[in-house]
Formats: sequence, structure tokens, C-alpha cells
Amino acid sequence: MGRFSVLARDAVSALPVYEPGSPIEDVARDLGFQDASELDKLASNENALGPSPRAIDAMRGQAAGMHRYPDGGAFYLKAGIGRHLDVHPDHILPGNGSNELIELLGHTFLGPGQGIVMADGAFLVYKLVAALFGASVTAVPMTDYTHDLPRMLAAIGRDTRIVFISNPNNPTGTMVDQAAIDAFMADVPDHVVVCFDEAYIELVPDERRPDVLSYVREGRNVVVLRTFSKAYGLAGLRVGYAVAPAECIDLLNHVRQPFNVNAMAQAAALAALDDEEHVCRTRELLAAEFAYLYGEFDRLGLAYVPSEANFMLVRVGEGRAVQERLKRAGAIVRPVDAYGLPDFIRVTVGTHAENERFVRALRSCVNGGA
Ligand SMILES: *Cc1c(COP(=O)(O)O)cnc(C)c1O
Repeated sequence: MGRFSVLARDAVSALPVYEPGSPIEDVARDLGFQDASELDKLASNENALGPSPRAIDAMRGQAAGMHRYPDGGAFYLKAGIGRHLDVHPDHILPGNGSNELIELLGHTFLGPGQGIVMADGAFLVYKLVAALFGASVTAVPMTDYTHDLPRMLAAIGRDTRIVFISNPNNPTGTMVDQAAIDAFMADVPDHVVVCFDEAYIELVPDERRPDVLSYVREGRNVVVLRTFSKAYGLAGLRVGYAVAPAECIDLLNHVRQPFNVNAMAQAAALAALDDEEHVCRTRELLAAEFAYLYGEFDRLGLAYVPSEANFMLVRVGEGRAVQERLKRAGAIVRPVDAYGLPDFIRVTVGTHAENERFVRALRSCVNGGA
């Protein structure tokens, strides 16, 4: 072991590294494809329709001003989000992706001797952030691939500081409904912060979408995380936001970097927010393509978990092996063994052409085509 490892904090050297999807160009080169366009990148839950066209215009408009620091207070973006959600801008904090906000919650609320409660099949970043701050993780088993809120409630201890609820959840695509949330909120003790990570919520039709912002308006210990990476198609820019009572936002402001959201991201996010049409088209694509994919999986005799987001789990046998075979056939998907789901893969919904190509590849991979 070199000197650096000895010098590092224990929590850091012990930390596993999050496994992101490989850049598509690298995969294409490694596999001998001519061009990245021959591959379907269905591994990172990105928007198949690309960014909102209004966001692209806004970014073009910003380019010549990039020698300036951004607005460190993100005034216009906060005002825009506030109008959009009908909450006061003092209840909003934009971040460098909602992942940064998860880390800021760790800075603010977690340390040794404290812990988080999460579902065992929920987003891995919660676990990594808890470990980074030396906090313990209680991972509660899911029921039917869904957060089991009564069980999570029972798992809360005196040292619990944050309960993370990813809704809809990545990687299972399942959602807890309003009744389950209300029952949980009625009994949750007030020494914990409840974080609803709603990275995919804009993709859920209005009539099925649970409302948790009203808990923020009531001043409960609730933090809602949203992102521009999924429905708005701006993952490359890194912008998300937290909605929470002003006292909590104020604390998070203490631990963030002064210019945590770049200028181009602020402008693009603001423009995307008003592009309802792009979000609607994204939802329509998902409805049509889930119908297509469910039908194909049924035909192939593959079990799957119906999804509320823009990706889904399909049971393929040995997930890692099938993922490797699919990659060689040109479809990049995600293994989910790290979530305790070794017999599934997670596939992001692409365009219809991409999904057809994926289904063809899958058919060859699961029918013994090694
Ligand atoms: C994609 C995703 C995020 C968003 O991350 P960003 O940092 O905003 O890109 C947050 N939570 C979950 C559960 C996700 O799947």
C-alpha cells in the first residue's frame, strides 16, 4: 500500500466506487463497431428524445458569456422552479445534479454514530454517501420490488437521521402511492429527515403522481429531490434541485460550493422547465414503448417488473452474462447484481427503432445464442 492510502480517511479508502455506464464511443471501439451510432445506449436512463429544443437554444445563447462566473444564487432558476411548483424560492436549492444534493444532505445530517434507512433495492448513491460520512446503512428488504414503507418505518432507530425513498425507484421502476406515503408520514418520528428522491416523477401521469411537496409546505422534515437529467433530457449538464423548508435549505447552503451550478445549466434548465410539450412527448413515447416492450417480453416468456419511469427490469437468467452478450450484439444495458438482483438486467427505454434493435439482440441472447 502506498503512502496516500495510509494517509486517507478510513471511510474513503473503504468506499466502493459507483460504476457508471461506459462512454458509448469506448464501447464501440472495444467491440469493433464502426461507429457509436451502431450501438443502443440503454444503460443510463437518459431521455431518448434528447434535450428540450428550447434548452438547446438557451445554451447557444449563453456560449459567448462563459468567461463570467455563474449566478451563485441561481436567482432566475429558483424563481422559475418556484413558479412551476408553486413554492417560494427560499424553499429551493439547485445542485450539480441531484446527486450533489444527496451529498449535501450527508454533509449536513450524517456522521459517525448516525445512520440512514433505505430500501435494499434502491439507488446505490445513498449508501455511498452514508459510507463517505461514516454513517451506518440500514437496508430494508423490498416487497414486490417496491419500497416497503411500514417495514422502513419500523427500521428507524434513535440514531437514524435520513430515510431515503426513491419514488419511482431506480432500478426497479416501482412507485409507492399517496396512501402508503401518507401512512408513513403520519407515524415517522420527527428526529429524521425524509428524503423523497423524485428523479423520474415528471414521467408519471398527473393522476397517479403522489404529492409530497405539500409536506414541505407544511414545514415537515421533508426534502424532495428532482433533476433535469431524466424527463428534461439534460443529464450532461448536471442540474437538479432540492425542495425543502427554508431552514433546511439554509443549512444546505452552508455546505455547498458557491458556484455549484454552472451558467449554461441554469439557463438550459430554466428554458426546459417551460417546455411542457417536450415532457409530454417523452411521456407519450414511454407509454407506447412500454406497451411494445411488455408485449415482446411476454412473447419471449421473460418476466419483468412493470415500470413508472423510463427504464425497467427484465428477468433474463444470469444478468451479467446476458448484459455482456447484449453488448456484443450492440445493446448496452445495466446489470443490477449490485442491487441484489443478479437475474435481471435494467434497460432504458429508447426510441422505437432502438427498442426494436434491443429486442432483436435480446431474442438472440436469451435463446441460447451465446
Ligand atoms: C438518475 C437519478 C438521479 C439523478 O441524478 P442527477 O445527479 O440529477 O443526474 C437521482 N436519483 C435517482 C434515483 C436517479 O435514478
